[in-house]
Amino acid sequence: MTCPKCSGMMFSERLSDFFLTFYAWKCVNCGSIVDHTILENKQKESPSLAQR
Ligand SMILES: [Zn+2]
Repeated sequence: MTCPKCSGMMFSERLSDFFLTFYAWKCVNCGSIVDHTILENKQKESPSLAQR
């Protein structure tokens, strides 16, 4: 897993919301957090962008 912003190394970190505990990817270089749900949302958005 590499950072989409800076291509740095990412590691899986455990984060906790109020009710949920989930894992997200965090970049060592820039501290960018990539959540799995964010990735899914981007994949959903991409087909609609292609139609435009
Ligand atoms: Zn980064």
